[in-house]
Amino acid sequence: MRRFTTKILISISLILSVFCSVAAELDFYLPKEKFDSNIPTPESVLGYQVGDWHVRHDQLVLYFKTLAKNSDRVSVKVIGKSHEQRELLQVIITSAEHQKKLDVIQQQHIARLSKSSKPSAKKSPLIVNLNYSVHGDEPSGSNASLLVAYYLAASNNPEVLSYLDNMVILLDPSLNPDGLSRFAQWANQHKGQNLNADPNNREHVQDWIRGRVNHYWFDLNRDWLLLQHPESQARIEQYHLWRPNVLTDHHEMGTNSTFFFQPGISSRKNPFTPDKNVELTKRLAMFHAKAFDQQNQLYFTEEAFDDFYAGKGSTYPDLHGSIGILFEQASSRGHLQESVNGLLDFPTTIKHQIMASFSTLEGSLVNKTDLLDFQYDFAQEYKKLAKKADHVGYVLSEKQDKTRFNKLLTLLQKHDIQVYPITKNTEVNGHKYSKQDSVYVPLEQPQMRLIQSIFSDRQSFNDNTFYDVSSWNLAMAFNITYDKVDSKRLVTLADKQWHKPNKQMINLTDSYSYAIDWADYQAPALTYALLNADFKVRAALKPFTAVTPAGSKKFAAGTMLINAGLQNDDWLVSFKRIVNEFNVPVSSISSGLTTSGIDLGSRNMMVVNKPNVLIVGGFGTNSYEVGETWYLLDKQLGFSPTIIEKRWLTNTDFDKYTHIIMTDGNYSKADENLLLKLKIWTQNGGVLWSQKRAALWLANNDVLQTTTLSQREMNQRFNKSELNYGDMERIAGKQRIAGAFFNMELDLSHPLAFGFSKPLLPVFKNRTDLLMDGTKPFSNVAKYTKSPLLAGYADKTNVTTIGQATGLVAHKYGKGVVVGMTDNPNFRSIMYGTNKLLFNALFLGSAVEAK
Ligand SMILES: [Zn+2]
Repeated sequence: MRRFTTKILISISLILSVFCSVAAELDFYLPKEKFDSNIPTPESVLGYQVGDWHVRHDQLVLYFKTLAKNSDRVSVKVIGKSHEQRELLQVIITSAEHQKKLDVIQQQHIARLSKSSKPSAKKSPLIVNLNYSVHGDEPSGSNASLLVAYYLAASNNPEVLSYLDNMVILLDPSLNPDGLSRFAQWANQHKGQNLNADPNNREHVQDWIRGRVNHYWFDLNRDWLLLQHPESQARIEQYHLWRPNVLTDHHEMGTNSTFFFQPGISSRKNPFTPDKNVELTKRLAMFHAKAFDQQNQLYFTEEAFDDFYAGKGSTYPDLHGSIGILFEQASSRGHLQESVNGLLDFPTTIKHQIMASFSTLEGSLVNKTDLLDFQYDFAQEYKKLAKKADHVGYVLSEKQDKTRFNKLLTLLQKHDIQVYPITKNTEVNGHKYSKQDSVYVPLEQPQMRLIQSIFSDRQSFNDNTFYDVSSWNLAMAFNITYDKVDSKRLVTLADKQWHKPNKQMINLTDSYSYAIDWADYQAPALTYALLNADFKVRAALKPFTAVTPAGSKKFAAGTMLINAGLQNDDWLVSFKRIVNEFNVPVSSISSGLTTSGIDLGSRNMMVVNKPNVLIVGGFGTNSYEVGETWYLLDKQLGFSPTIIEKRWLTNTDFDKYTHIIMTDGNYSKADENLLLKLKIWTQNGGVLWSQKRAALWLANNDVLQTTTLSQREMNQRFNKSELNYGDMERIAGKQRIAGAFFNMELDLSHPLAFGFSKPLLPVFKNRTDLLMDGTKPFSNVAKYTKSPLLAGYADKTNVTTIGQATGLVAHKYGKGVVVGMTDNPNFRSIMYGTNKLLFNALFLGSAVEAK
């Protein structure tokens, strides 16, 4: 028995909460072999053995760069930087021979996918991509990556040499460097000379912002499809350059668990993942099982963790002919922790990730030909599948807001999806698509399965229990009109693919007034920039028609006006500069007298003030939603809101804030003092935005005037009396809305709906708490349609009730305004369609005048 294991056994008889320092030797992790002494061990660079401390990202970078310098099997590329400017590494491990011609190997690997007949797999290296710790507080993966790379560089074992000869191993040691660093700091700063295994110890209980998430508190393992963060953008670019055959995704789960590897639950795979993928995953699983059996370690498969949402690391590859494998190790969450299986120490968790990495390499090598053939067949299959499909592609259109449209099309292209302009106007399913404003995404292209998944409006599934969202329809997220096209005759395509138009310089001549088109996604950012530079801005609360150099033009309510007569001296130069930093349509108006509608000096031209926003954060609030709101204002509007933890709010002076945003969270009787302060501040003129359970809390405390139905009450609508114990999970799946799109109808005359050009708006829902009916006249800004489900899974009982509910309520409260939204308009920062509702509250909220 190894020295280390013996130590653990002895210690179990000692007092559990105090444990001497765990020190593992190299042979605890790796086979006893004679290693190449020219290759630096991690210990020689870090100054301690792997597992003694939690490695920081800068130490990882130092080790891998040192390794690359000393080994001709290893090279390192910096593929990007995290938000906090940490380097994102791609470590490439293969034979010295292959290292010399990586470019050729990469190009040949991609080229073989489009060959007209199946190329031989014999001479093609297999591409295996090992990915560690996308969740920063699941650090066994990143710490294991050091030893995986060391072993591949230093061993001369024939098996290792065979891996190097037959594979290119792309190793990403740390998918979320900012989160990993946050957690490493936390775990290390609480480590004493004697380890403390008590789960209650501060080391094992993280702060409100955990290491799991990235800089802006996002879960990067939901961003593979959405690509809103630099970490995912860099990774997906490399993914498409290399198209790995196998991709591993190393995580951790609860401390009391064991070890999990895929395949997961067969009924919960993505419907567009081919069955052959599951078969190959099973074949690889035999190798993981063998490795864990040999070490007498427990594990499980085919349970938990669905493989459905295309934005996860183990699912995205499945839609590309790769085999994505999820690994989940029970977490020591710190250096040592008590568990139902005895003491779980950090080195053991690292060792398991090393074992899974090598069982992957072993299984991949044995199945090399089948993996390469499968990927080739997958890449070719679209031709046959496209012929069988009931449609030929999708047509998409957006007339008013080019910024939002271009963002969606650019995102599709980042996933290697071909998008074409259309050259003739057309009509599909009764919707008109003009050639100026529309594009076409043909189904017959290699990314067919991903495309179908992105535009899917499926509402029924084999298994209705979802671990994550059940829809990610990007056209709905961006509120873009789209239709399935069932015949190629309906569209005429341009020869070349769509490309993002170049930024147009706007040449403004001296004029009486300038009008900013509020329909554009960037109009709020431009407005903020102007307010921040002390410009006087007015918002038209009613539409008007005025004369512009291009002729008479209609301006919608919500148009922002910069009137020459109100500005400071020498304003025009800085106005032109700011306008050209954005890409928003701005028109010159030569007279205050309009041809119809309100004049420019009208009382319906509201003064717009610069928002100063407070976001309620801290324990008791949903950190994802707070992070999403912070990110939205910071990235899309250009300012940093003030986030204050709930527990400090009763000591905070609210007076300087114009807006307070409350995301979903637990608000209860304990928050009574906060409630009182919020009431007084709103009555004095503040604009209070609340979403999900914050809105229900305000409604139940007579601030927001609306009836409610809580998630608990919704759950009670399901009859459970006749059910068996075994039905528990299934009924919970029916009660829950894990994430689906619903249709809302906006009152377009309401200030909070300005900038929207059509009344129907898809909104993303992942809780069933409902605002039922705003009881003040004119306060229901948006209501769900009668049959509101657009895409994803929701049980009929829920859908029917939601069809009677309201989506957005706003009314005057004293001199201020209170707004409640049933849903989160900023989910995963991809809801470009509903973002505008919050933008409107920030710039037009004080226009709400319901009496
Ligand atoms: Zn995880």
